[in-house]
Amino acid sequence: MDRIEAEKKIRELRETLWENSRRYYVDNAPVMSDYDYDHLMHDLEDLEKQFPEFDSPDSPTHKVGSDLEDSPKKEFAQYPHKYPMLSLGNTYNIQEIEEFAQRAENTLGNAFTYSCELKFDGTAICLTYVKGKLFRALTRGDGVVGDDVTDNVRHIKNIPQQLSGTDYPDEFEIRGEILMPYEAFDRLNKEREENEDQPFANPRNAASGSLKLLDPKEVAHRGLWCTLYHIPADSVAFETHSKALDAAASWGLPVSDKRRICHNIKEIEDYINYWDLERKSLPYATDGIVIKINELAYQRELGYTAKSPRWAVAFKFKAEQACTPVLSIDYQVGRTGAVTPVANLSPVQLAGTVVKRATLNNAEWMRQLDIRVGDWVYVEKGGEIIPKITSVEESRREPGSEAPVFPTVCPDCGTPLQKDEGEAKWFCPNTDGCPTQVKSKIVHFLSRKAMNVLAGDATIAQMYDMNMVLTPADLYDLNKTQLLSLDGWKEKSAQRFLDSLHKSVEVPFERVLFALGIRYVGEQTAKEIARHFGDIDKMAEASVEDLLEVGDVGEVIARSVYDYFRDERHLIEIKRLKAAGLKFSVEGKQEASSDALAGMTIVISGNFSISRDDMKALIEKNGGKNSSSVSKKTVFLLAGTKPGPEKIKKCGDLGVRIVSEEEFYAEFLGTKPEEKAEETEFKPGDEPTLF
Ligand code: NAD
Repeated sequence: MDRIEAEKKIRELRETLWENSRRYYVDNAPVMSDYDYDHLMHDLEDLEKQFPEFDSPDSPTHKVGSDLEDSPKKEFAQYPHKYPMLSLGNTYNIQEIEEFAQRAENTLGNAFTYSCELKFDGTAICLTYVKGKLFRALTRGDGVVGDDVTDNVRHIKNIPQQLSGTDYPDEFEIRGEILMPYEAFDRLNKEREENEDQPFANPRNAASGSLKLLDPKEVAHRGLWCTLYHIPADSVAFETHSKALDAAASWGLPVSDKRRICHNIKEIEDYINYWDLERKSLPYATDGIVIKINELAYQRELGYTAKSPRWAVAFKFKAEQACTPVLSIDYQVGRTGAVTPVANLSPVQLAGTVVKRATLNNAEWMRQLDIRVGDWVYVEKGGEIIPKITSVEESRREPGSEAPVFPTVCPDCGTPLQKDEGEAKWFCPNTDGCPTQVKSKIVHFLSRKAMNVLAGDATIAQMYDMNMVLTPADLYDLNKTQLLSLDGWKEKSAQRFLDSLHKSVEVPFERVLFALGIRYVGEQTAKEIARHFGDIDKMAEASVEDLLEVGDVGEVIARSVYDYFRDERHLIEIKRLKAAGLKFSVEGKQEASSDALAGMTIVISGNFSISRDDMKALIEKNGGKNSSSVSKKTVFLLAGTKPGPEKIKKCGDLGVRIVSEEEFYAEFLGTKPEEKAEETEFKPGDEPTLF
């Protein structure tokens, strides 16, 4: 490669790595596999070594990936790290581990040991304890400055607020990883799917996204766990890293018991081989092994590069991959009409399960992969969980194969597809006639967060196919004889279904509104609209401008709601549901504690003595309206600790008053609500169970 080509290539590689680093650390939504990312990074390192004139301290090869937001909107206070938080040199090649060991021996002789540890696949955290109490928790950030996530970390069960024993240093830092165990990850993704939120790609992204939530109570609900693996050598007076960690464990800190002291490369390789298999039965994700020089004096001697310690290296496990042919491509229509391409694969064993299908996301993704029916493709489990096609083995492509043509009409009902500006997906606009959409809408209508009726996809398909239920209102006309005429239905199941349906008429208006499945009206928006208008008739009469008055409603949602009520079929459906007894107006105005905040639009920001959800509920109970962004309509910003600087600035620009939590209670409510004890808070004596 000549200099001009090298310079161009270096620039391209840096761009790609920066872009993917942002997707990974900031958005928590990577689109590239770690393996590919690491390979590009190694290519860049090689080129920069070969052409040092193009090397630069700003290159991703010299900087740790940053999880700090690029935008000026900062939700967390930031503090500098006492010692920089770096990355680790890594390799997928055992020979490079041998070379690392050889270099260490050449430099240090034989009088040292290695600490071999699991490489936990979560997000890094730095905890500071002062006089035995948890003082601060910072994320890695850009390695120099981290986000202060102390309030959230206090809701992670196995992190002690107070250390046990007395022999801990007056002040010290300890670092480790925040993880989301598989079980919590599966639960969270299930909830997100039910709620129509994008599921997390893997437990690492879920852990990292959860740690940056603004509501500490929600963090508690996410089931995060912590494992600690490093006390900076300068901050404690121990002889070895492993003794420092043993001491940390004795103070009640969660330290892994899977660590081993190794004396030579043979023992390191045994450890790697053992855990390459055994890690599959661990309840959390690991992506490699970390090998550290154990003696702290040697660690100090070897020091650091700009990006990583010289006394440690990570051996990364390659994500399990399989290569299998694509049998066909389906185009699936979802509840909202979005058409998703799905590849049907020749079944293949991968990380403990048989994979038969993998999503291709959208037309653009397919184009980028250049995938064709008959192609052999590599399938990987992102974070070992969700099957994903990572690439096509072009050398095995059959001659004459053709790129698939994305359908122009709905594969189910034949209606021409549409694509809205800014959307990645094509849509079938036949929302009320397309069978798949209709069935999915009924399933959504009955789902747990909507009407909460016991029925799944198969039941609805059965009823739809028999022409018994074509819209949700038909459900309420069903009788037992009809149900018993369906295949497999018995007296007991029919009665259970009818009881569940009968009970659903008690569901409050906001959930009924969510159940209707109006495009873009999710759970939260339904709540806001329901409370704003009070009943469906006022909502149906509202103009787009009226709808825009509602807190979080923007142009797209307002237009979608407005259009919904201009369709005669929807009005008939609502009339029938009303006749069946469903609630179409907000009840419980009597629940309001007062009308002290009547007519006031309030924005809350920061953390309060109660959770943010409870604070919002308190505002509503007293007649106020919550909004998420500061505008001219905002009466005041209720600011807790660490309010968002952007919101504060906007208040300054618009002359909106900022009210503290104390002022709020004293001036507006007259009293402070009783504080509820946090169920999830760590109690001394709670034992970490995972590590
Ligand atoms: P890393 O994950 O490769 O290794 C360093 C980290 O490992 C440490 O910061 C620490 O958080 C963690 N760790 C876990 N167990 C440990 C232990 N026992 N001892 C010490 N540290 C331990 O490095 P990174 O800087 O966090 O991330 C870089 C990696 O992230 C890349 O190598 C790549 O695989 C991945 N990445 C992927 C993409 C993508 O698009 N897929 C983008 C950016 C980064």
